[in-house]
Amino acid sequence: MRSNFLSNTEVLELLQVLVRTPSINPTLAPDASHGEEALAVCARDWLLERGVEAWLEHVATGRPNVVAQVGEGDGPTLIFCAHIDTVSTEGMNIPPFEPLVEGDRVYGRGSYDMKGGVAAAMVAAAALKNQDLAGRVKLALVVDEEHSSIGADHFVANHTGDACIVTEPTEGRLILTHKGFVWVRLTTSGTAAHGSRWDLGVSAIGKMGNIIAGLKRFDQEELRQRPRPRPSPDVGPASLHAALVKGGVGISTYAPSCELQVERRTLPGETVEGVVEELERIVARSGEEARIEAFFDRQPLVCDPGSKLASCVRDSAIAELGEAPEETGVAYWTDAAIFAAAGIPALNYGPGGDGAHAAVEWVSLCSVVSTAKVLAEAARRFCY
Ligand SMILES: [Zn+2]
Repeated sequence: MRSNFLSNTEVLELLQVLVRTPSINPTLAPDASHGEEALAVCARDWLLERGVEAWLEHVATGRPNVVAQVGEGDGPTLIFCAHIDTVSTEGMNIPPFEPLVEGDRVYGRGSYDMKGGVAAAMVAAAALKNQDLAGRVKLALVVDEEHSSIGADHFVANHTGDACIVTEPTEGRLILTHKGFVWVRLTTSGTAAHGSRWDLGVSAIGKMGNIIAGLKRFDQEELRQRPRPRPSPDVGPASLHAALVKGGVGISTYAPSCELQVERRTLPGETVEGVVEELERIVARSGEEARIEAFFDRQPLVCDPGSKLASCVRDSAIAELGEAPEETGVAYWTDAAIFAAAGIPALNYGPGGDGAHAAVEWVSLCSVVSTAKVLAEAARRFCY
């Protein structure tokens, strides 16, 4: 019978199994991809072998979340969430699925983003199994965070909880706030005509050019300078960029239409409607007309530093590691916002390392073990 789930040996063994099992997001890399299923099965079986109730929930074909539960009490439920998909191995110059260990570092695709966090959540759940919690701990090991987070969406549609810790790598910092984003499509119309007929043709691409210039000016001169209601902790300025453009039908034809996709990173408090109105003003100011349509958005994250969740994680880090974690806001978006939007207070706390989506990726084993200890202690405090 294994007893110390939070030992370096146990955590390393699990982490290596996870890195060895490819789980590249199939939407990002349809050709190279293995999908998340093999990893999900492997995680579920590891939990079952250690007496943790665990099962798969199918989100899409070949793409299951792993859900697990520890404790049966009526007290509060704390969720540990981690994504099991990774980006592709393109451009990597280390063996992606052979988890080389060098000192404290464990290398491989997904080791840092975020199989270290997956391992931490799993061993913490196993360690809590015999602890007579008054409440429950749920594991949400979800698919597809690297693309559109259908796994986290599926989980919150089917489960409730009182708080959630996402274990994305944060270098041991407590991330309480981050930005959201809105994706917007702008379409201009021109008048198709033979390329020689300057007297008839109007290029939709030319119109879009004026809009793009206006967007760039707005981003640099207004948006990023705008005094902002500072969430605590700060997440930096809002921003936007022209991300994708397509238009035209041939070299000798005035372009009848042009489509631009703009990504706008939003601050807490900003709305989709507000972003669209702002874009309408920029288009009008550039003297053009365009159809504007927001087609996808994710909200920013705000977690109250005085909340029970934040206090539990902070106090657990002090108890386990001897010092309070740095508390910060970040620019990038995480699945934590999906929980927050579903009414479940959420924050990010996870291990350290380097190389998310990069050529060389590694996670610090010690930091994975520390994360697991803090998670287990936070659950003891939260689920009383
Ligand atoms: Zn991640």
